[in-house]
Amino acid sequence: MKQLVVRPGRCGAILACVNPQDITLPDSMLPADGRFGCGPSKVRPEQIDAIVAGASTIMGTSHRKPQVKNLVGSVRAGLTDLFSLPDGWEIVLGNGGTTVFWDAATFGLVDQRSQHLVFGEFSSKFAKACAEAPHIGDPTVIESDTGTHPLPTAEAGVDLYALTHNETSTGVAMTPTRPDGADAGSLVAVDATSAAGGLRWNTDDVDVYYFAPQKCFAADGGLWLAACSPAAIDRIERIASSDRWVPASIDLGIALSNSTSNQTYNTPAVATLIMLDAQLRWMNANGGLEWCAGRSDQSAATMYGWAEASSYATPFVADPAQRSSVVATIDLDDSVSADDVNAALRANGILDTDSYRKLGRNQLRVGMFPAIDPTDIEALTACIDGVVEQLA
Ligand SMILES: *Cc1c(COP(=O)(O)O)cnc(C)c1O
Repeated sequence: MKQLVVRPGRCGAILACVNPQDITLPDSMLPADGRFGCGPSKVRPEQIDAIVAGASTIMGTSHRKPQVKNLVGSVRAGLTDLFSLPDGWEIVLGNGGTTVFWDAATFGLVDQRSQHLVFGEFSSKFAKACAEAPHIGDPTVIESDTGTHPLPTAEAGVDLYALTHNETSTGVAMTPTRPDGADAGSLVAVDATSAAGGLRWNTDDVDVYYFAPQKCFAADGGLWLAACSPAAIDRIERIASSDRWVPASIDLGIALSNSTSNQTYNTPAVATLIMLDAQLRWMNANGGLEWCAGRSDQSAATMYGWAEASSYATPFVADPAQRSSVVATIDLDDSVSADDVNAALRANGILDTDSYRKLGRNQLRVGMFPAIDPTDIEALTACIDGVVEQLA
């Protein structure tokens, strides 16, 4: 039964509004795939096919035997290709996702003191982990207003600069850069969880580029991966051989030695590795990081272009240079409820366009990772317009 809901604030005291869940969009308007979440994000069907293809040969087999070790090796080689890593870099991996990597880094990467750029929820979490770790000094935290990013500044005594390539909670992206005049031997560590595979970066400016597979790599969570420069490897090995106590499950020295023999310290989720490997093959076969970043650029141009032209939507990030091309945050006018728009979209199979919960804005947030087809982003903008028209 059709339900009429009276919402005086928005519709005026005497007008009855449509229940968002009752809005139906014509099939011809809908995107081919309705998943626009920022992680977990759209998994391409071919990645599931890859699991099925390995259903009786890789799935359910030992991670200490060649089948799974070769898969780990293929992931490591695929990432090395994708990022065009110079000689001497290593892909290190372990269980637990990015959040666990932060804890590992407080033990195995920060020597004495770190500096953090904080401009959203995720960047604040690594800063907090370092602030609470009793065995290292108090970190320096440089913050900026929500919707912008700060810049790192060289600081004597700081041995690790913690940057975030893409702040998934706000849709702000920054180019990782090594601060001029930083102490010799200091490292730049970049949280690239939602950026890796979708945004460009320069290996000269970075020592540790770490991420998890559930964003641009379109796989499942639960794993962390880190591209490590020779300087980062030296740091990991030096701390690992010092007398600092480190829990084995987050010991980067142990993770490094396992990774270089294509293993993990404890059992990994094999299906995640298969999906990650399939995505890397797809990315590299299509033209590598440049192709992937170009695809996200195209989606971003559509999304922000639509918002700028819209009478009720505005890009949340004011400076176009700081707008992410993998995560768009779009503010809606007070006259349009983002909750209603999201509910109506969801009722039509368009999922996870909600803003980051703690940001508390009347906002849509849209994943534009390489797996997401730019034509589906175009269809999404038409669907938002269609929903808003029917809500009015
Ligand atoms: C998603 C995300 C994380 C958290 O990743 P987990 O694997 O869930 O721990 C951290 N940082 C950024 C920038 C993210 O987008």
